[in-house]
Amino acid sequence: MSSNPFKTWGRSFALKLTLGYASIFTLSAVVLFGLLYVLLASALERKDREVIEARLKECAAVYANGGLPALRNLVERNSTDADKSKSFFVRVTGNLGSVLFVNVPNEWLKVDTSTLQLQNDSNRPNWLRIPKDDERDLTVATARLSDGSILQVGRSTNSRETVLQPFRLNFLLVMTPTLLLAVLGGAYFAHRATKPVREVVATARTISDTGDFSARVTARASQAELEELATEFNRLLDKNQSLIQGMRHALDNVAHDLRTPLTRLRGTAESAVQTTPDPVAREALADCVEESDRVLTMLKALMDISEAEAGMMKLNRELTSIPALLNEVTELYELISEEKHITITTSFTGECKASVDPTRLRQAFANLLDNALKYTPNGGRVLLSCSSESNTVIVCVRDTGMGIPAADQPRIWERLYRGDKSRTQRGLGLGLSLVKAIVEAHQGSVTVTSKAGQGAEFTITIPQIPMGT
Ligand code: ADP
Repeated sequence: MSSNPFKTWGRSFALKLTLGYASIFTLSAVVLFGLLYVLLASALERKDREVIEARLKECAAVYANGGLPALRNLVERNSTDADKSKSFFVRVTGNLGSVLFVNVPNEWLKVDTSTLQLQNDSNRPNWLRIPKDDERDLTVATARLSDGSILQVGRSTNSRETVLQPFRLNFLLVMTPTLLLAVLGGAYFAHRATKPVREVVATARTISDTGDFSARVTARASQAELEELATEFNRLLDKNQSLIQGMRHALDNVAHDLRTPLTRLRGTAESAVQTTPDPVAREALADCVEESDRVLTMLKALMDISEAEAGMMKLNRELTSIPALLNEVTELYELISEEKHITITTSFTGECKASVDPTRLRQAFANLLDNALKYTPNGGRVLLSCSSESNTVIVCVRDTGMGIPAADQPRIWERLYRGDKSRTQRGLGLGLSLVKAIVEAHQGSVTVTSKAGQGAEFTITIPQIPMGT
């Protein structure tokens, strides 16, 4: 049975697994990157602060020992050092906010240092970071000295952005293929993980579509749970198959055992019809003969089917003109077709001769034509065609009748199966099983294409010369 593939894919377990794998993989990558980012950012910050804090402590110690002159001395000595770029911003602000001492390195000249926050009531330095340009930042530590004045030491530091921005950019660059890899990898693993489940579904579908109960799932030793599922499923199928076989055997045995007493019963009734003088009793006995014939036909069909299925149907093959057989069958049903005003058309092309058992094949064609006339309303049409193609003969019986619903199509070949809408018609539900059995005994195949309400087309394909001869 067909289902919308997009709808199925939308609900697919494999898709959910793929998305699950991909999300976990992507989330892990994002968390890892985020962690690295935070660690890197704090490591950079710590490194900058260590240098400034050491200088702050040095200045505070010098100020504590020698006051402002000593501090000035220290700063001036450092400013004359070769590496001026490393010189520090140092400022001492008195209690009332007046600047007592300040050293502003060249690169700080454009910065408005008057606004640098002076507040610090704790023992630890306060930190302030001002972005200077794209590549440099200014970092200032503010500490309160023992006499209450404020000491500020600052330094130009590499902008963290210069390191972190490429890191963020790389993150985006790396994430695109990572995401793709996560989806592809997820899809691959999900596909592999759900393979045994798909096999179970495919096997179940084969059985329900074709009725082939011998289909089994291939067990895989690598996945214990799924192997168990496959094994249990196969065990269930074995059980089903043996039950069905048991039922068939019982049916065959019953058919076989009933034939002899029923034939005897029919014979007795038939001879009594001729001898009994009572007209009522004669009519009742004639009914008995008719009903016995019906049951005998059914039993014969059942036995023929089981014989053919067991490969034991005896075929008296002879080179036969298939169109001639079809014409004979059409003549047989002329009366019924006229009664129902159904036009039977024939179309034969090519050399349609084959080595077949004409009696058996006539029986199969008759069953198909019988059904076509039975299930086509008055005024309909039936087409019988025959053609030959690469050593096979193809016979089609097409009608414009009620058609067969898709759900019924796999089942119509089963013994005793009758469609719901067909129960008002005469029939035993054995016609198509017999057709199939006869055709397969001829090494051929029979298929049906139909839509409910739009007629049905049965196609029989039979090799002209059977294989192995
Ligand atoms: P029966 O005709 O005795 O019911 P068959 O084995 O010949 O049994 O057919 C099985 C079922 O297949 C029928 O009951 C009917 O539902 C369906 N069927 C067969 N041939 C046709 C057809 N030509 N058009 C519609 N339905 C059909």
